[in-house]
Amino acid sequence: MVTKEKQELVITKLKDGTVIDHIPQGRSLDVLKALSILKKTKNTIALIMCVDSKKIGKKDLLKLNNFELGHISLGKIAVIAPGSTIAIVKDYRVISKCQAAIPDVLISSLRCINSNCISNAKEDITSRFKVVSKEPLKVRCHYCERTFTGDGIVVDV
Ligand SMILES: [Zn+2]
Repeated sequence: MVTKEKQELVITKLKDGTVIDHIPQGRSLDVLKALSILKKTKNTIALIMCVDSKKIGKKDLLKLNNFELGHISLGKIAVIAPGSTIAIVKDYRVISKCQAAIPDVLISSLRCINSNCISNAKEDITSRFKVVSKEPLKVRCHYCERTFTGDGIVVDV
C-alpha cells in the first residue's frame, strides 16, 4: 500500500510584522523589489510562492518580520498585486487587515516614462499620478499630463 504524503511547507508563525497574502502568482518578487525591503531590512522575510488558494487558484505570500508598510508602499502593492491583502500582526495576532486598493492619486509610487517630464529632470520632485481608471488601470502624470496604461505604468523602485 502506498500512503500519499501530503506536501507541506511549515513556516513559523509571525510574531510582529506584516503579511501580504493573495498576491497574484509570481508577483511576490516584484512586490519585494518595489518596497526596497531587501536593501533596508536585516529581518527575516518568508517568501512563499505558488500556494493553493481557494480564491485565486495559485497565489504568492510574503511574511515580513518586524516590518510596517507606509502608504506609499500600499499604493505600489495595489498596482503590482491588485487584490492582495495586507495584515498587520502584533504578538502573533492580526490587529488589522485590509485589501490593497488603488487610491485616486498615486504619490511617489510610479515613475513617469516621458523622458522630457520635469519629474525626471529634478530629483526633488515627487511623482504624482491621477488615477483616471482603476480597471484597467490608467493613470495621468500630474506634471506632463501624459496618460499611461499597461506597460507604460512603471512602479518606482
Ligand atoms: Zn510626466
